[in-house]
Amino acid sequence: MLHNDIDGALRARARLVVPGGMWGHQNAAGLPDGYPQFFASAEGCRIRDVDGRGYVDFMCSWGPVILGHRHPEVEAVAQAQAALGDCQNGPGAVMVELAEAMVATVAHADWVQFSKNGTDATTACVTIARAGTGRRKLLVARGSYHGAVPWCSPSLAGVTAEDRAHILQFDYNDIASLDEAADRAGADLAGILVAAFRHDIARDQELPTPEFAARARAICDAADAALLLDDVRAGFRLHPGGSWEPLGVRPDLSAWSKSIANGHALAAVTGGDRFREAATKVYSTGSFWTAAVPMAAALATLRVLARDDGVGHMRRMGQRFRDGMAALSDRHGVGIRQTGPVQMPLVLFENDADFRLGNAFCLAALDAGAYFHPRHNMFLSTAHGPADIDAALGAAEAGFAAVARLI
Ligand SMILES: *Cc1c(COP(=O)(O)O)cnc(C)c1O
Repeated sequence: MLHNDIDGALRARARLVVPGGMWGHQNAAGLPDGYPQFFASAEGCRIRDVDGRGYVDFMCSWGPVILGHRHPEVEAVAQAQAALGDCQNGPGAVMVELAEAMVATVAHADWVQFSKNGTDATTACVTIARAGTGRRKLLVARGSYHGAVPWCSPSLAGVTAEDRAHILQFDYNDIASLDEAADRAGADLAGILVAAFRHDIARDQELPTPEFAARARAICDAADAALLLDDVRAGFRLHPGGSWEPLGVRPDLSAWSKSIANGHALAAVTGGDRFREAATKVYSTGSFWTAAVPMAAALATLRVLARDDGVGHMRRMGQRFRDGMAALSDRHGVGIRQTGPVQMPLVLFENDADFRLGNAFCLAALDAGAYFHPRHNMFLSTAHGPADIDAALGAAEAGFAAVARLI
């Protein structure tokens, strides 16, 4: 397909003034050549790249956009706050309103502290757990993503052994390995950090088993350690009260970000009373952490999600997508695996260790107007309606046809 190459020109300029031309997941998370890097505009579940091509968006800014891009009610509230002030000497009244709303929504929460990025929140959870227990060891699942600073970054470049000195690993959903890691931590166990579900890149997703979740809770209870839930990615897409509510297991501390302000920069730690004093003592702050606009946006986001049963809608649309994909894969004789919650879909192809098929599928679907990801979980929003799902399935049909030609 012929198109302008504004994207290519921007990449070339970026390579001169930005290391590698781009950082982090945009660079390393395995989008095939041919995907745009730069975007011009977005509305609802539709996005447009700088070369003017439009797509049904299945990444939602890699999670933050949960009500659709530029949701009118959220943006009206954000603009009204912006007209009054955003980055001031202290927070606006909206901080207290939002904290009250989060404590009312999140089942385990007695308090909340705000910051900017998910990494701020996961790091604060770890620090608060250590401050509250007076211990050092943290159990983390092998391969789980918790952020991009030395204690948890997936890259070891610039990371010292000391940065990871008190991190012990276990395998997600593997009780024996969790027990073994807890034994190694012994009396120095500060906490167990778990993702809401196993959403490691480039492998099938796994929901936590009830036994695994209960075991993590029981170990923390027996050791008087903290159970830390990383709800940064799944938060508010699975359950309004926290992603482990359906399991009946409540964490002591949870990390939130991505979706909570529908694309505005905000993160939060929620905690129970046991860690309130520790959270008070830990020095947590950042230059932009009191900004009022993202908090106003978050308050509106929570209100709309609850009013419109956002989780239920995303689940229905996710199921429609999953069923449609299953029918298409059958029709084309192409084996796929669809795993994880339907509203956070991941589609992997059988016999595709090198992602040759997944990449071909995504590139053909991209050309046909859907922005999918070959190996990272995708995200639905409440802006995805039946017609949008069906349009995406139409593009997926082109993807399956391309894969069928390769196998
Ligand atoms: C994105 C993510 C983080 C880090 O959040 P940032 O806002 O990128 O710092 C942490 N944990 C999980 C599970 C995430 O998906």
